[in-house]
Parts: sequence; C-alpha cells; structure tokens
Amino acid sequence: MSALLFYTLFYFLMSGCIIYPPTEFVSAGLTVKDVFANWLGSENEFFIQYHIRRSVATLLLHSALPLGYVLGLFFFNHIDPGKLLLVDGNYLGPLIVLCVTIAPLYILNKVLEWSAHNWATHPIAQNLSVYSNNNTPWTAVASDINTEYRRIDKIVIVTNSVTRVVATDNWIIKITPYKLQVAHQSDATLVVNKSDVHFMSPTTRDQVQFINIQVKPMRAMAQEFDIRLNALDFKDLQDKVSRPIAILHNITFHRTLLDRFIDIFKEEVNKNPFYDTAEELNQCIGCMQALSNVKLNRLCSSADTRDLDDCTTCYCRPMWCIECMAKWFASRQDENAPETWLSSKCTCPLCRARFCVLDVCLVRNSSN
Ligand SMILES: [Zn+2]
Ligand SMILES: [Zn+2]
Ligand SMILES: [Zn+2]
Repeated sequence: MSALLFYTLFYFLMSGCIIYPPTEFVSAGLTVKDVFANWLGSENEFFIQYHIRRSVATLLLHSALPLGYVLGLFFFNHIDPGKLLLVDGNYLGPLIVLCVTIAPLYILNKVLEWSAHNWATHPIAQNLSVYSNNNTPWTAVASDINTEYRRIDKIVIVTNSVTRVVATDNWIIKITPYKLQVAHQSDATLVVNKSDVHFMSPTTRDQVQFINIQVKPMRAMAQEFDIRLNALDFKDLQDKVSRPIAILHNITFHRTLLDRFIDIFKEEVNKNPFYDTAEELNQCIGCMQALSNVKLNRLCSSADTRDLDDCTTCYCRPMWCIECMAKWFASRQDENAPETWLSSKCTCPLCRARFCVLDVCLVRNSSN
C-alpha cells in the first residue's frame, strides 16, 4: 500500500512540475519547448507556427497525464488490471480507465482536425484571421507577426514560468501554455485596472507590485485578454506600445526606493550654491536626453582636513544631468543600508574624484 501511495505522490508531483515547471526543470531542459525542440522549429524564424505546435504538444502531453498514471499502476503491479476491469459490480474502475483513455484520443483527433489545411482551423489561426484584410489568409497576418518578432527591438516580459508577454512594433501578444492571444496596437485599448502588492519576505520591507492590464481589441470577433506583470516592467511595455495605457484612478504605482532617493537627492542639491559657467552645455552622457546640469564642485567642510576619504577636486566639465547623477550615486552605495546613502561618498563617474552630496552643484549658464 505504501508503494502505491509513494507512486501516486511521485506521479502527481512530476505532473505538477510538467504543467508548471519550476526553475530546476526549466534549467534542466525538461519543458515542452526543450523536449520537442526539433519538431517545434525556430521560434525566432516562425513565431506563430512555432506556438501553434508548442500549444498542441502541450495540450497532448497534459491530456495524456491521467492515462500515464493508470498505465503506471498496471505496469508497476500496484493494481491488477483484471481486478480493476473485470470484477462484477465494479463500474467505477472501467469508467475511469475509459475516461483517461478517451481524453487524449479526443485531443489527438482534435489536433489532427486542426492540422488539416495547414492549421487553418487551429484557434490561434482563427484568432489571427480576425485581423486579415479582404479575405487574405491568416498566414499573411502570421508572417507579419513573424517579421516583427524577428526584430531585435521587440520586448519580451517573462511574467512566470509559463506565461510571457511580447510587444512588437504593432502587436501585443500573450503566450500561455495552450494559447496565444494577440491584439493589434492600433485598435486596442489598454487599461490598468487592478494592482496588488506582495512582500518578498517578512524581515525586509521589499515589496513587489503586480498590475493587471486589460487588453481590449476593438475589432469585431477579436478576444480581449488580461496581462499581469510586475509594476517595474510596466514602463518597458508603455514605451513600446504606441497607444497610451489608461490607468484607472484608484490605481497607484508604488514608488521604488530609487525613485524616493532621487527626489531627496535633488532636494539636497537644490540647497547647494549654483555653479556658474559660460560654457555651452551638452546632452547628459548618461541618458542622452536631458541637458547636463550638474557639476561636481568641492564645497564640503572637509576641505582643510587631510583624511584619506576626504572629497577631492573634480576637473570634469558638467556632463551629467541631476537625475543620472542621483542614480549613479545610489548605484555606488550599500544596497542594504539605504539610510546611510545620503551621508556617504561616491566617486566621479569619469575622473573618480571623491564627492559627497554637498559638492553637487546645479549649473547656471550665464551665456543664455
Ligand atoms: Zn541624464
Ligand atoms: Zn570628475
Ligand atoms: Zn564633499
């Protein structure tokens, strides 16, 4: 009996790992996409065709799991097949065997049906055909998506071990084990409608915020879907999506420790005197967007002592914006002691001169 129990527990655990692979399984290559790699082809070359095959393989594999359990019972002699199937008055045994056998056969039949006519009736193909113009076949839409997926500027957000969100130039795609949901950005509305916060561990106050985005295609027959992602990934998605993403007014984004530090850093720097220069200011070399507006100018009172960790003079021209300087400053501090950051020192990103927050001056340009 204990052997049966052990077998059952082991089988359920393995099935769980196959359906929802933990990182150990993923790194050992024990996932559908690794095991069937040869048959699936290249995701990068034929994204849509790859995912039709992957979803079909996943469906078949999962549907065969109960049958595998029953066959295992017979194979390891936990249960005598004769007893299970042939004893008078026992209808449950044969019924279970019938069900677990029919399920994968039904799915297999469905898959064969889909695969006729080059997968034209597969749900993924049907989803895409909603977007085809003037009766062009779904494969035209598929090849458009394949082309966009091949570009390196797409973004791929892994939301858990079985779900990914992809944003290409024109499409938003959600990949799940059995499905691939797509929306064309031009006619979809995106709304952040839910958020929830989780604490990483009870000791630290590190928290992760997840947000839920509803993707609603306007096109008739197109299906809407939800994507759930870490709030930190939201900006990446927002940058890639051409449409504004609406945020319902009851949703607030939790600010990260870094965001809060940047604000405090700016406040402190504002208290320091300006640095006047007639030189023309260039773009910040950190973000390539803002104009550079800070100069490291040794002002702190340690000027007359001769300690080793005193601030030193930086002769670099103003080349950074305050935002990037704050980020740089934070990146050089002890991650585990944020309360010490503001009173700590940092080195100039270019000449490595040591400075503290008292030495960071906003630049005032007297030429304009
Ligand atoms: Zn910058
Ligand atoms: Zn410097
Ligand atoms: Zn200093």
